[in-house]
Amino acid sequence: MKKHALNVRVEDFVAWANREGEAHGLTDQVIAQDPDGSIGVSRFRRTLAWHIARRPGGLIALAIQYGHMRTVLDARTSSGYATRGRRGARSVLDIETALAAADTAARLRDRVAVGENVSGPAARRALTAAAQTPRFEGRIVPKTFARKATAFLARDGVVLYDNPDAFLICAFKRDTALCEPGPGATAPRQYDCRPGSGNTVRTDAHARQLRERADEIEQPADHAPTPVGTRLRSHANRLRVTAQAHDTTAQSAEALT
Ligand code: SF4
Repeated sequence: MKKHALNVRVEDFVAWANREGEAHGLTDQVIAQDPDGSIGVSRFRRTLAWHIARRPGGLIALAIQYGHMRTVLDARTSSGYATRGRRGARSVLDIETALAAADTAARLRDRVAVGENVSGPAARRALTAAAQTPRFEGRIVPKTFARKATAFLARDGVVLYDNPDAFLICAFKRDTALCEPGPGATAPRQYDCRPGSGNTVRTDAHARQLRERADEIEQPADHAPTPVGTRLRSHANRLRVTAQAHDTTAQSAEALT
């Protein structure tokens, strides 16, 4: 399908969704008129980049869902986010990744501000980095921001990547990463995050989430076949051990800085 046809389909979908919304009295779910014009496919670039930047393995999930996303896949597998020939995708991804890192830094600062303790080999480095990372209150991104974002991401050791799947923040430093990033990589391979990495940081919130996840995993264990139940319990146990390790080693921000 060509771009024009896709754009027409998007508009058709909007019209259909709005008709259905009104027919069922769901006026709050109507897709509002966009002041910037039609919602063409070119405007999805930042939406896709948002998912890639904020979900470990988001790129892979998107590539599976949209088989045609070779541009992005090729770009990421060259260890950074893009080859030179694909600057468009690279700058959008860098912008979203930098914004995601700034959000992660802001969240870390907020958690520490409410008295949460921090653990992990990179805890001190992460707190220093979080204190120096600007907070982005809005999302208006001028053209010049792409270059700044790329320069920001190239600063090894101070960029914070949220990794909700591993219940940690990754203060990415190439030399201490266990996920085997390529030479010159500016981003971790979060989907291959490994326990014991020197870039790990956890807050009390992560410990809570680890325990909640352990409870969820264990719930079906009693009704599952024995080998499956054993595996589920063992996984839940590993998560609780990690949470316990946080509890016994975590320190306040004052003690760490
Ligand atoms: S292994 Fe280390 S560097 Fe890689 S994602 Fe996990 S914490 Fe980050």
